[in-house]
Amino acid sequence: MGKMKQLYIDMLNDHWEGDPDEYLRIKTRESEITKSEILCPNCLTDMLIQENQVDLNCVCCGFNFVKINHNTIRYK
Ligand SMILES: [Zn+2]
Repeated sequence: MGKMKQLYIDMLNDHWEGDPDEYLRIKTRESEITKSEILCPNCLTDMLIQENQVDLNCVCCGFNFVKINHNTIRYK
C-alpha cells in the first residue's frame, strides 16, 4: 500500500494527465525491465526495452524483436 501511495505522489509530481492505471503500468515496467543498448531499427527513436534474455520491445512504435546474438536482432 505504501508503494502505491508513493507512485501516486510521483504521478502528481510528474504532472501526469493521462489514465492513472497507465502511469502505474509504465512505472512498474520501468522498475522491472531494463533498457538495452540497441536502437529500435523500426522507428529509430528510442532504445529497445529488454523484457528478458531474448525478447525486446520498443515503447515508441510498439514493435517486438527477438535477440539472435550479442548485437543482432530480428523482427518477431
Ligand atoms: Zn520503435
